Amino acid sequence: MNRHVANLLMHPYYYGSLPRRWWESSRRCVNGSAPIIVVFYHRVADEHPSPWSISTRRFARQIEWLRQNFNLVSLEEAQTRIEGGFNERPVASITFDDGYADNCAFALPLLIRQRVPFTYFVSVHHVQHGEPFAHDVVADQPHRINTVEELRALADAGVEIGLHTRTHADLGKVQDPNQLYDELVAAGCDLSEMVQRPMRYFAFPYGLHHNLSTEAFRVAKEAGYRGVCSAYGGYNFPGDDPFHIQRVHADPEWIRWKNCLTVDPRRIKNTRRFEYQLQQEVDQSALEVPAAHEVPQAGEIVMK
Ligand SMILES: [Zn+2]
Repeated sequence: MNRHVANLLMHPYYYGSLPRRWWESSRRCVNGSAPIIVVFYHRVADEHPSPWSISTRRFARQIEWLRQNFNLVSLEEAQTRIEGGFNERPVASITFDDGYADNCAFALPLLIRQRVPFTYFVSVHHVQHGEPFAHDVVADQPHRINTVEELRALADAGVEIGLHTRTHADLGKVQDPNQLYDELVAAGCDLSEMVQRPMRYFAFPYGLHHNLSTEAFRVAKEAGYRGVCSAYGGYNFPGDDPFHIQRVHADPEWIRWKNCLTVDPRRIKNTRRFEYQLQQEVDQSALEVPAAHEVPQAGEIVMK
């Protein structure tokens, strides 16, 4: 089925299930189980569109719609609502992954002007070296990456800067504990120094089930991160695990965006939460992290 047909079929499904959604939504608000939805964007720009970019016009329309339908909160507040076990009104929190410089032209100033909180996840190596992402180079679109100065200016404007590994590594494939430590912990220390702020949140690159690992959750927790984000499309509800924040993609297709953000019952049914084990269930000898001198330095990380 092509994308166009799929979007057409979405209309009857969405509008047909609206009465049920309204009923569910009011029930959740009454009993304090309203959703806490965390959305992720990558690149907001009108030129050189790609599957991970959205136009400035559509972005502005989405933010306006979010402002009308949700309380827009920081990731920290979203986490507090999850942890508190009671939430009376649908809440949304905005995040960005990767650190595309184009975002500084329109999206980020718009959010800052409107005082909409957001969290900005970047990969340290790419910021340090101004190196475009391999997937953009392959597509012959080597988009510029945010500089340290831009990130500092964002942090000064109250934006939460978070870690997105050092090299945008797929942590589902990383077995070497030294590499995992470097991508998750040493990179976080470096980014923290770069933006002169504590590193409190981490987002898995790619973020699907097979890109996550129990080991990475454990290392992130031990390193002192307050929370980690996946990106496979799950919702959060009060009383869920507040450490693992599930995120949904900010789909540029309007019908799919509305379908997702108004809590699609089919998505709830079909999305399995990634489960990880905490330290008490794991062999204690596996908990040791490598000493700092064993960790490769930033300059030794070679990109493909
Ligand atoms: Zn990414």
